[in-house]
Amino acid sequence: MHIEELETKVCAGYDLTPPEALELAAYPDKEALYEAAARITRHCAPREFDLCAIVNAKSGRCPENCKWCAQSLHHKTQAEHYPLLSAGKMLETALYYEEKEVNRFSIVTSGRKLSPAELRELCESIRRIRRESSIPLCASLGLLSEEELRALHEAGLTRYHCNLETAPSHFARLCTTHTQEQKLQTLEAARRAGLEVCSGGIIGMGETPEQRIELAFALKKTGAQSIPLNLLNPIPGTPLEHQPLLSLEEIYTTIALFRFIHPRAYLRFAGGRARLAPEEMQKALHIGINSAITGDMLTTTGNTVDSDKQQVLRAGYGLPPAEFDRLHLWHPYTSTSAPLPVYPVRACRGAEIELEDGRVLVDGMSSWWCAIHGYNHPALNEAVRKQTGQMAHVMFGGLTHRPAVELGRLLLRLLPRPMQKLFYADSGSVAVEVAMKMAVQYWTAKGQAGKSNFVTIRRGYHGDTWNAMSVCDPVTGMHSLFGPALPVRHFLPSPSSRFHGEWDEADLLPLRQCLERHAPELAALILEPVVQGAGGMWFYHPEYLRQAEALCRKHNVLLIFDEIATGFGRTGRMFACEHAGVVPDIMCIGKALTGGYMTLSAVATTNEVADAISGHAPGVFMHGPTFMGNPLACAVACASMRLLLEGKWQKQVQDIERGLAEGLEAARRLPQVSDVRVLGAIGVVETKEPVDMERIQRRFVEEGVWVRPFGRLVYLMPPYIVTREQLQRLTGALVKIVSEL
Ligand SMILES: *Cc1c(COP(=O)(O)O)cnc(C)c1O
Repeated sequence: MHIEELETKVCAGYDLTPPEALELAAYPDKEALYEAAARITRHCAPREFDLCAIVNAKSGRCPENCKWCAQSLHHKTQAEHYPLLSAGKMLETALYYEEKEVNRFSIVTSGRKLSPAELRELCESIRRIRRESSIPLCASLGLLSEEELRALHEAGLTRYHCNLETAPSHFARLCTTHTQEQKLQTLEAARRAGLEVCSGGIIGMGETPEQRIELAFALKKTGAQSIPLNLLNPIPGTPLEHQPLLSLEEIYTTIALFRFIHPRAYLRFAGGRARLAPEEMQKALHIGINSAITGDMLTTTGNTVDSDKQQVLRAGYGLPPAEFDRLHLWHPYTSTSAPLPVYPVRACRGAEIELEDGRVLVDGMSSWWCAIHGYNHPALNEAVRKQTGQMAHVMFGGLTHRPAVELGRLLLRLLPRPMQKLFYADSGSVAVEVAMKMAVQYWTAKGQAGKSNFVTIRRGYHGDTWNAMSVCDPVTGMHSLFGPALPVRHFLPSPSSRFHGEWDEADLLPLRQCLERHAPELAALILEPVVQGAGGMWFYHPEYLRQAEALCRKHNVLLIFDEIATGFGRTGRMFACEHAGVVPDIMCIGKALTGGYMTLSAVATTNEVADAISGHAPGVFMHGPTFMGNPLACAVACASMRLLLEGKWQKQVQDIERGLAEGLEAARRLPQVSDVRVLGAIGVVETKEPVDMERIQRRFVEEGVWVRPFGRLVYLMPPYIVTREQLQRLTGALVKIVSEL
């Protein structure tokens, strides 16, 4: 038999058969077997070690007669005996382990199963722990029914543990008060109740090597991806007290075989591992152990968690890098119960992101369009430092300050001339809210209060607040989720004419028809000019904007341009509307405004709009955020605008455009790719199938770049200061990784 051949097959997803496992067990070159298993572990199994801490929540006096167990009433041992721990005591323990960044907390009780009263009490305790902490909760409470397991799941339990203990053919020799079949039923019931399952066994209880393999295959049927492996610790007073200890070779071989049979599972070292010397432990970790039961309070040696972590790191495993983050912090559009991994960042400079683990990534995202000048820029740093010494914030109601005034002057130099009035807001979404309120107030002032709805094009993105959300693409946006809670807007097809392509007159038809029919109820048309960002990364023909403007004028509908993503040079012009030579009535800017330093946005509008709003009761524009015109944000925005006014961005963006076009050209020929498009400092590769976010993200990090795709869009928009070499790294990695899809 060729052991490497089997190893390769297993890595490719092949299920080992029992005869193959038996052959492996008899393989004479043990070291070769261990090494093959180690390679499977590295290739297939999770590399982040999983630590589970347990609390013995009820101990001793168990009526069952399991021969290995110190807690059985049938044996005379020194085991402690106490009733169910209080919720407070368990919570204290859970909090201790959460603080230590242990990955899960398991509540273990002795006995065949808990009584109904105990179970009710435990459910209450679990609810309490879940209310006051976030560590994932597991339990091992004996032979429960589906209904009981359901109650535990509803209380907050996520995983249920029940060991098969030993091979089916060996079980009855070790325990006669219950059967292994009952254990299997419990595991099945736990799965039906929505719980993950954890199941393993004890080796060294007189079973044959063949029976260990039998156990491994029996476990496969339970679907458990967490498999505790205990080494029998013969306890005085139990019937197994004189059982000889397993040899190291037997231990390592079992681990190797379990790894061959369960290539992707967490093989969890549990009881009995304390007898291994540190070097022996290292070897077990190397061969296949990638998780463990740990615990400080259960042992007399103390500090097990910390020393376990050291052992694990020494063996080349990682510990989940952001455990507190995972348990408590919400990231953009994520689940808190199954969040995708996040990469901790230590520092950024220029076009580089340095991770906590020391890896340095070339940034292809500019932190979502913002960091155009690169990170840690001396001029921007200095602006923040200087302003902090003056005042970080002061209210804008009734007061004003130099940074706000200065920023206004700079913006008026950059914006189209008719943009004469500025409203500072906190974020892009708020700017969109403000723009929409302005449009409605404008028509009210004009005595046409009926003009209060909006029209937009599909594939748009305008932010996550209520009204911003209502004009986002109804399919890729959140409309189905919020449904009736959202105002209903008019949606038109996104223009199909490409930016560099032919203009197709038919693109305008839907807008013409909509305005002819609905203009009396429409306040404004809102869209992202030329580049639709987060809704689809689509670049459309500027002619659409020219004709849309004419139609809006004709039908008395205001035109709002959302330049939050496109503004400040990203598309090759200072503002994307310049590609069409169209000036809107209201314009939103944000994102790169502060060079990515602080959240700040602004809404610019004409005197026509501002005069109308101000000339009609209540005579004021009704909006005023607490942090309006924040001096620190304005000061750094001034520095960011001054850098733009120096004018280097034009050549930089041109160079990036050329580099993206050249670097992404190869992607056009890939069978995975449906389109490649480049405009300014934006390069988009559209794939035929949606990408697996977790996998592709990891691959990009491995290749030393930071790229965050969504759906079928893998795209680059690096900081303007990116070097040629850095840009080549980005495009090279992108083409390579897309070709692997
Ligand atoms: C990002 C974005 C917004 C929302 O900005 P936030 O600062 O995230 O609220 C609005 N419109 C467009 C075009 C954007 O790209």
